[in-house]
Amino acid sequence: MLTADQLIDLEDLIVAELERIREESSSNEEERKAIAPDVAIGRLSRLDAMQMQEVAKEAERRREERVSQLELALEQLDSGTYGRCELCGDDIGYERLEVTPEATRCSLCAS
Ligand SMILES: [Zn+2]
Repeated sequence: MLTADQLIDLEDLIVAELERIREESSSNEEERKAIAPDVAIGRLSRLDAMQMQEVAKEAERRREERVSQLELALEQLDSGTYGRCELCGDDIGYERLEVTPEATRCSLCAS
């Protein structure tokens, strides 16, 4: 079982991580915008620019996935179901949650 202090620590961790991801996402927004056909791209060829856009979009997709996992973790914290393995029902260790606060499986079931 996680102690109340550990739960507070983990909630702080999750909130900070969400904040970080959202900042990263907004600073990355320019790269994801569509490239207008008549825009002068400078040294980069149009193909390079399109590839970079794809990479930026993929990174954004992964960020969105992580955000929804972290938000789910916050909901579980509220409802008191946080930190339990979805497969075996055992407690997920604090050390594991500290590294991966959105983990929904214990290290045994995850491996
Ligand atoms: Zn498990």
